[in-house]
Amino acid sequence: MQFKSWGEPVYRIAQLLDWLYARRAATWDAMTNLPKQLREKLRENFSLQTLELVRKQGSQDTTQKFLWKLADHSLIESVLIPANPALYGEASDRHTLCISTQVGCAYGCKFCASGLEGWKRNLTPNEIVEQILSVERWHVAQPKEKSLEAAENRVVNNIVVMGMGEPLANYDNLLKALKILNAPWGGGIGARKITISTSGLAPQIRKLAQEPMQFRLAISLHGATDETRNKIMPVNRKYSLRELMDACRALPIPRRKRVTFEYVLLRGVNDSVEDARQLCQLLQGIRCKVNLIPFNPHPGSRFQRPTDLEVERFQQVLHQQNIQTNIRRPRGDDIQAACGQLQGEEFRNPQVQSLFTAEAR
Ligand code: SF4
Repeated sequence: MQFKSWGEPVYRIAQLLDWLYARRAATWDAMTNLPKQLREKLRENFSLQTLELVRKQGSQDTTQKFLWKLADHSLIESVLIPANPALYGEASDRHTLCISTQVGCAYGCKFCASGLEGWKRNLTPNEIVEQILSVERWHVAQPKEKSLEAAENRVVNNIVVMGMGEPLANYDNLLKALKILNAPWGGGIGARKITISTSGLAPQIRKLAQEPMQFRLAISLHGATDETRNKIMPVNRKYSLRELMDACRALPIPRRKRVTFEYVLLRGVNDSVEDARQLCQLLQGIRCKVNLIPFNPHPGSRFQRPTDLEVERFQQVLHQQNIQTNIRRPRGDDIQAACGQLQGEEFRNPQVQSLFTAEAR
């Protein structure tokens, strides 16, 4: 840290971290217990806010979507999802932030708009962490009556890494960021409150399993055979289902916990009873739960959503094999309208869409 070469005492680091993470200071001048001279040096050498808010969209249920411009003018998005009684019960004060890890995505899943534009670059650890801090700064700046909660400056207590990009393809930067967000001197968010989603990068899943911090993992499966998966997820040609499932079986799963598999249901592609049976076979012996996400069609997409009956039939097959399954159903017009507002430069990852939906069994 620069402080040493500047001849600053060690305790200044703790003061700075306190301003950055505990108090979410928005300006260097706000850090009033740092000498003015030091604040000047910090201003000259560092940038405090690297994300510029371009647009924020909100739904009536207070879900908030933030479009950020980065220093190189790239655009990324984060989505703040407030506690949803249907998901967490009346007493929950859970606020989830869905964050991005890359500009664009190289993995090209056929049902996801993030991949259509290709990959531009990885986000830095700073840009990943800043999504949380910037959302919380925005929150603090809200007039009290519109605020999600009273004067709290920390609003995010749950993180899902499901935004733009394949998180495990930006492994080192992601881990650096998550360690900061997890640290008591940093974001203070427990590892079990942080979920990383992956399209199935088997070697990185194995690497993650070795990390001392046990973040939650959600695997995007979306197909129970190589044939089906190859059609919709090009990553499967690199890491076959066998390789992926071997990596999943090697995950250290704490007692009473399960691996989460995400399965977007695409009509006529992966939603038949036979597909469900193959999925049961694939998951045999793995303590898991499956989130079924009926595809949310959007303009330009060639896929369709299955009917409710088809979705229920699929779920029944899994239930018969005692596989815990949740169906994510659209919660209502208000939320669907909000999802529909996601346009070209934003992502349409079905897993993200599932965050805006209620869970039904
Ligand atoms: S689903 Fe995830 S991995 Fe696949 S293209 Fe979209 S962002 Fe990339």
